[in-house]
Amino acid sequence: MPETQGTIFNIQRFSTDDGPGIRTTVFVKGCPLSCIWCANPESQSSLPQIVNRPSKCRGCGKCAAVCPEHVISLIPTDNKPEIRIDRSLCKNCCTCVKACSAGAMHLYGEHVTADEVYNTVKRDLGYYQRSGGGITISGGEPMMQIDFVTALYTLCKNGGIHTALDTCGYFPTEYISRTSGLVDLVLFDLKIIDPDLHKHYTGVDNQLIHRNLREFLKTDAEIFIRVPLIPEITDTEANLTAIANVVKSFEKPLHVDLLPYHNYGENKFKMLGKPYLLSDAKRQSKEKLASCLEIFTAAGLDCQLH
Ligand code: SF4
Ligand code: SF4
Repeated sequence: MPETQGTIFNIQRFSTDDGPGIRTTVFVKGCPLSCIWCANPESQSSLPQIVNRPSKCRGCGKCAAVCPEHVISLIPTDNKPEIRIDRSLCKNCCTCVKACSAGAMHLYGEHVTADEVYNTVKRDLGYYQRSGGGITISGGEPMMQIDFVTALYTLCKNGGIHTALDTCGYFPTEYISRTSGLVDLVLFDLKIIDPDLHKHYTGVDNQLIHRNLREFLKTDAEIFIRVPLIPEITDTEANLTAIANVVKSFEKPLHVDLLPYHNYGENKFKMLGKPYLLSDAKRQSKEKLASCLEIFTAAGLDCQLH
């Protein structure tokens, strides 16, 4: 039987941001949402993508000279030339990556087997056991690679490793039963309750997301709700109150994590040749974060700022 393959763009060991304890986070490629604040825009396409990292690039032009498809251009600027890549014609052959001695050309995305990833994940078994950590599969949307993630979760469960799924919630509902018994913890994003605003800022309707959350509640998995606080989009009083009301309406008490805004995705949007629409957004003040937290604690929910 052929081994189950997936497409990932990063494996982050010793992560403390994606669930309890020390974890290894596996980032898969491909997401059905296109949130304008995405911190990992390199995850949105399910295909590998080549990028130029300006901070490393010396502007020597070797990459353009070796590209067999002639899709790299050097645009003159006052400083070093800027590299432009016509990704619609790029064949991801990586000739430019090998030619760049500065390490400025990079391919986001590689095809790997579940066994290969597991071999990396299990190296930190001792850390997981001592800290209460494990593996988190994030992305992108892990459920878009259901065969790969169930194979990887199965290996981890058999190896005694705690498993977490970081999900946007938008995937075929029947996939939940396929992960049943394999996922210990679900980090479930709730972003915007108003359906029109949700579609406007993420590209998709939120009905399926709410249905999938209700389905997860029927499973034995522990569920943490994660709310990204995006200035004047998700962090409004109206939206946070609506999220608190949804969470409060469930019989099962759910922990809520609030994720303050950062602009770590901005440079990656630029590298991918995509516009970043939140350039003017500012991080929330301490007072603003405290007021966001208060909305959830006043509703009687177990909530913390991440
Ligand atoms: S080869 Fe590397 S350093 Fe030279 S222009 Fe291309 S990306 Fe920049
Ligand atoms: S990956 Fe290959 S086709 Fe794409 S830009 Fe680099 S050299 Fe050209």
